[in-house]
Amino acid sequence: MNSPENKSNFVSRVNQLDAVHLNRDIGKIFRDNLLETVQILSPVIYTKIKPELELMVQSGLWMGSVGTQCATFGQKLLMLSYDKESLTLSRLSLHFALTVVPLYLKSNAENRFVNKEWLQKALNVGEHIAIALSIINFFRFLKTGKKPSLVDFFLGLDIISLRSNQRNVGYKYMTRELIWGGFMELIGLILPLINIHKVQRIIKSAFKGEVLSGVNFVTPRLTAMTVCGFCGDRPTLPHHMGCCGEVFCYYCLQGNLESDSQFCCVKCGVKVQGVYELC
Ligand SMILES: [Zn+2]
Ligand SMILES: [Zn+2]
Repeated sequence: MNSPENKSNFVSRVNQLDAVHLNRDIGKIFRDNLLETVQILSPVIYTKIKPELELMVQSGLWMGSVGTQCATFGQKLLMLSYDKESLTLSRLSLHFALTVVPLYLKSNAENRFVNKEWLQKALNVGEHIAIALSIINFFRFLKTGKKPSLVDFFLGLDIISLRSNQRNVGYKYMTRELIWGGFMELIGLILPLINIHKVQRIIKSAFKGEVLSGVNFVTPRLTAMTVCGFCGDRPTLPHHMGCCGEVFCYYCLQGNLESDSQFCCVKCGVKVQGVYELC
């Protein structure tokens, strides 16, 4: 008797888990938006009635989904639903009590009864027990493929599919993702090989004509405000090129000279005269 019914009501585990996660995310979006708005409008009211606001949002979401539609928002998006026949009034009330009320109690304790140590401890223990039971339930769900959440298990609520069992997989985004990923990898590989400053210099000299060489030798003076003309930080082992007085880190200058023998001063555009240490 069991097997034909199981076959027609088969809902894949992935879809059931997706529904749980979607539902959680949708709830979070609504909750965060409303709480943020109230917090901006009136921070005093926000701190006073935060638990009630959360209760209001959660109750509203519950009423709009399981309360009237027999399915959470996540389930609706994936064309799933609770079995209406098993969702009696008492089970519905228990569903509300087990999904919405604990969040209110937790928020209340966190906001209003921070000093009551015994209450915090009791809540902590309760939360840990719920987490442990959820983990056990998750393994059970993986084995049986039914009742993904602890509340569903306690209330004996099965999830059914409202359409054929096929899960539609769209490859459009996956293809785009693959192309984009490949392109990013290529860019990541090529970019470090290009000497941007050399390219800049070549373009500049193409527009400006001949590179200047040989100007008045200015010996720069190191002050508290001196920064490296290349990296913009305090110069490490300060050196200069014997041109306009611009100071560079030794490594910045030497590194550039090794990668581009025609390296010019970034300030005056004069070709390197030499590398001089700043005393
Ligand atoms: Zn210069
Ligand atoms: Zn530098």
